[in-house]
Amino acid sequence: MTEEPKNNETQNKPKLSIYWIYGIIALIFIALQFYSSGSNPEEISINDFKVNMLQKGHVQKIVVVNKETVEVFIKPSELGKGRYPNPPTGWGMANKPQYYFRIGSIENFEKQLSETQQDIPLEQQIQVYYETRENYFGTIISYLLPIILIVGLYLFLLRKMAGGNGGGQIFNFGKARVKLFDKENNTKIDFSNVAGLDEAKVEIKEIVDFLKNPQKYTELGGKIPKGVLLVGPPGTGKTLLAKAVAGEAHVPFFSLSGSDFVEMFVGVGASRVRDLFRTAKEKAPCIIFIDEIDAIGRARGRNPNFNTNDERENTLNQLLTEMDGFESNSGVIILAATNRADILDKALLRAGRFDRQIQVELPDLNGRIEIFKVHLRPLKQLAEDVDVEFLAKQTPGFSGADIANVCNEAALIAARKNKKNVSKQDFLDAIDRIVGGLEKRTKVISPKEKKIIAYHEAGHATVSWMLEHANPLIKVTIIPRGQALGAAWYLPEERQLSTTDQIFHEMCATMGGRAAEQVVFGEISTGALNDLERVTKQAYAMVGYFGMSEEIGPISFFDSTGQSEYMFTKPYSEKTAEKIDQEVKRLVKLAFDTACEVLTKNREGLDKLAQKLLEKEVIYTEDLEQIFGKRKSSQTEENSQSETTEEQQNQAHE
Ligand code: ADP
Ligand code: ZN
Repeated sequence: MTEEPKNNETQNKPKLSIYWIYGIIALIFIALQFYSSGSNPEEISINDFKVNMLQKGHVQKIVVVNKETVEVFIKPSELGKGRYPNPPTGWGMANKPQYYFRIGSIENFEKQLSETQQDIPLEQQIQVYYETRENYFGTIISYLLPIILIVGLYLFLLRKMAGGNGGGQIFNFGKARVKLFDKENNTKIDFSNVAGLDEAKVEIKEIVDFLKNPQKYTELGGKIPKGVLLVGPPGTGKTLLAKAVAGEAHVPFFSLSGSDFVEMFVGVGASRVRDLFRTAKEKAPCIIFIDEIDAIGRARGRNPNFNTNDERENTLNQLLTEMDGFESNSGVIILAATNRADILDKALLRAGRFDRQIQVELPDLNGRIEIFKVHLRPLKQLAEDVDVEFLAKQTPGFSGADIANVCNEAALIAARKNKKNVSKQDFLDAIDRIVGGLEKRTKVISPKEKKIIAYHEAGHATVSWMLEHANPLIKVTIIPRGQALGAAWYLPEERQLSTTDQIFHEMCATMGGRAAEQVVFGEISTGALNDLERVTKQAYAMVGYFGMSEEIGPISFFDSTGQSEYMFTKPYSEKTAEKIDQEVKRLVKLAFDTACEVLTKNREGLDKLAQKLLEKEVIYTEDLEQIFGKRKSSQTEENSQSETTEEQQNQAHE
């Protein structure tokens, strides 16, 4: 995610060039049109010619042009009187015809002509000339037009691909599409704009120091790193960090995306890399930021079956060469961002290239508080009840970009309600909206459907409440939102490991919706699609990845290198495949049966819950406690023992 281009290197050249040429051509056309129409003869009918001109003896001569038109020359003595009082344009020129008409066929015309002149002696008959005229202009145009069109189209495409703004870019094709953020036109971003990310900031501050006082390090013989890789999920502030480095070090900042290098044409990517480094060296010390470097940096030669990646590999090779080529103390530091460092080519990560990696993680509770503080700054009118800590607790799993989005959305929601300030409720609405899409209270749902939905969601709630390892529920709603007809929010434990029991109980809770339909109505609906998909995937992961099935044993078919992405063959035999499928089926069935069992046992509570949901549409933990009593769970004890900050994680689902 990058911001609007503040400045484009090649933007402000005067745009003489092609538009002038277009203009001149158009002018020529218009002029020609005028010139030739200036002395055009008047069209008449053949009868008019015969009766009024030929038989009266006014005609001096006629010229048959191309066997299709006949030009009529009137005797100069007749002009200006009688039938020809108002001479049309071009009258005065004796060598120009005054009239013309078209004929069907030349033979026919000649016959008519001689019939009309029957009585006239031969030597007094009018002279007939024949002429073949080439329309040179038309012929030339008909040859040239296709060529002009093709060339025009080609130029147009070139310009498009060169990222074109204006005609000046046609020949900058091989140049990199770089956005330059300079000292002058940098909307000042520094570390105060980057919240949280404390570890990352410590490391990246070192880079700033390298750029500011290189001697300090080089004097001792140290080498300044050439490349730093920022690794983390999207929206966590990698671009922001890179910009902050440039802003703090007061150096130019070149920003571009990995996909900018990859083009249809062979060699363009490589030439863009060359160009980028040349420009950067001129501006050193400076920072080059390559977003989404995986677009070019994926491991090479992964996919020998297809040769489609040649261009990308060339680009990558060029990048490697350039990085080796420049001195490590030349003052150019390359920052690159990616979501996945594991799929990058190992050559990129070698010493002397991107040898430093900085992890940029999703923010934790404290991080989110900090980020909220940053993004609440621009909101002018905050209501008293807005509590940053509360908001941060409501947004587990949100990235910095999501939080920025929440703040903006909250302001929009408040404005839509014509409110003077932005209140807590607006933020909650914004969060719900970002998690689940817009509420659709207008969606038409029949009472029967509503009952099914209520039981479905109550089923999730009941099962997750009753099974001790499942995540406890914090909120259930049957207000349709986005694609979903209802949703349940859970509060997952902060844990790095999951045991078989934990995963299985979660699967049961996910199955709770379908199970409730089965238990209560004896018939099932399509509403469980999403649940089933999740459970199935989870079961495959348990069996195929985590080695959690006794039948298959502690074997994992997971491939962390991502190599198998392109493979058509599976790393196991048909027999094993069959076994895996059976195991998955067994697990899913077991989860469903367990859920059904739990619900049958707690049928009374389930009914009460569904009833309450139908009444209130939204219910919370307190309502569940009222019905089922306090939850006996492994988790609450653990949580009170270890004093980790309570971390909620919403899992909107369905
Ligand atoms: P990416 O990691 O995908 O490059 P960006 O750096 O483009 O993410 O972040 C997008 C936006 O999210 C930023 O412009 C900023 O508004 C917000 N943001 C992300 N992380 C943070 C953070 N740690 N502090 C403040 N704002 C952040
Ligand atoms: Zn469900």
